[in-house]
Amino acid sequence: SKVFKLKNQFHGLPKEADVNLIEEIVPAIKEGEFLAEAVYVSVDPYVRGLISTINPGDTIFGSQVARIIESKSKDYPVGKHVVGEFGWQTLSIGKNEINKIGFPAPWIIPDIGNLPLSLALGVLGMPGNTAYFGETEVCKLKEGEVFVVTGAGGAVGSHVGQIAKLKGCKVIGIAGSDEKGRWITKDLGFDHFINYKTSNVAEKLAEYAPDGVDCFFDNVGGEISSTIIYQMKKFGRVCICGSISTYNNDSGDLPKAPEIQTPIKMKCVTMGAIRVLDYKDRWLEGINQNLQWIKEGKLKYRETITNGFENTFNAFVSMLQGGNIGKAIVKV
Ligand code: NDP
Repeated sequence: SKVFKLKNQFHGLPKEADVNLIEEIVPAIKEGEFLAEAVYVSVDPYVRGLISTINPGDTIFGSQVARIIESKSKDYPVGKHVVGEFGWQTLSIGKNEINKIGFPAPWIIPDIGNLPLSLALGVLGMPGNTAYFGETEVCKLKEGEVFVVTGAGGAVGSHVGQIAKLKGCKVIGIAGSDEKGRWITKDLGFDHFINYKTSNVAEKLAEYAPDGVDCFFDNVGGEISSTIIYQMKKFGRVCICGSISTYNNDSGDLPKAPEIQTPIKMKCVTMGAIRVLDYKDRWLEGINQNLQWIKEGKLKYRETITNGFENTFNAFVSMLQGGNIGKAIVKV
């Protein structure tokens, strides 16, 4: 198996010298196990967020779509494709158990017709379920509400914004490139786009949402979040999903974002959070709903695919810097 191992703990933006790509012999499978060959590897923000929980020499985290090539488990027949959090490696041994960081047991991809299997890492997988359960369980959007999402050109953000459109909301997406902005407004139907790198977010938001924001889905954290929280409506809701603007900050200093207690108190804003791994028991519910929306033409997706397993690390760093539109994927 080809395997990416952590060489040095990441500091700031991860560097190529922080990882090793090595070859490893995979042991024979035991009763209850299966052997799977990676087809697509996912590069996700949580890999950066959780890296300090592993040690040099450990395999780097990562989910993948893999084909079962050998099996001693009746739950995992040879030839089926599974999604597993096996790490960045080309051959993996799996079994029917929740993985050590809490991901669901390897799940066999249901029949998705002619759609690409890579979608099981994006719109029909963990990010898609984050958008689905984030909306249904936390945001609970109502028709006519003003919905703001950051990271709007990425996997979760582009998806949850479309669900908000399906619920009849006015949707404002914030992201870091005009190309992302064109995609979400022209193809996905978002009402407005704000480029946080080139425009004044507070001013633009006040223009697009003059009466304030009903619900804010936060993928980014930091200063942009505070800016948006200052423009919530009375009894507005915030759904915290992630804080990618802080993941490379391991200086030990607390990020200096404007205080949010005052606007939260004055507007009686409610803050909630989505943690998709809390919905393991309902995993296929989200996937089936997202699949149905895709089939009905109500949910669109995009992938940024990097070819070659050996380019996984580069694809990861590019994603952290905004290089992806939609879901960042590596085709092995
Ligand atoms: P994306 O596809 O959105 O990719 C990450 C994007 O983050 C980049 O493309 C970049 O886009 C943006 N970004 C990077 N740095 C910054 C920054 N400093 N400020 C603003 N934006 C930045 O990733 P995902 O959709 O997979 O994840 C989005 C968020 O959701 C992350 O915070 C992730 O941790 C979180 N998440 C949470 C889950 C949960 O259960 N709570 C589950 C899955 C994801 P741009 O060009 O706009 O800068």
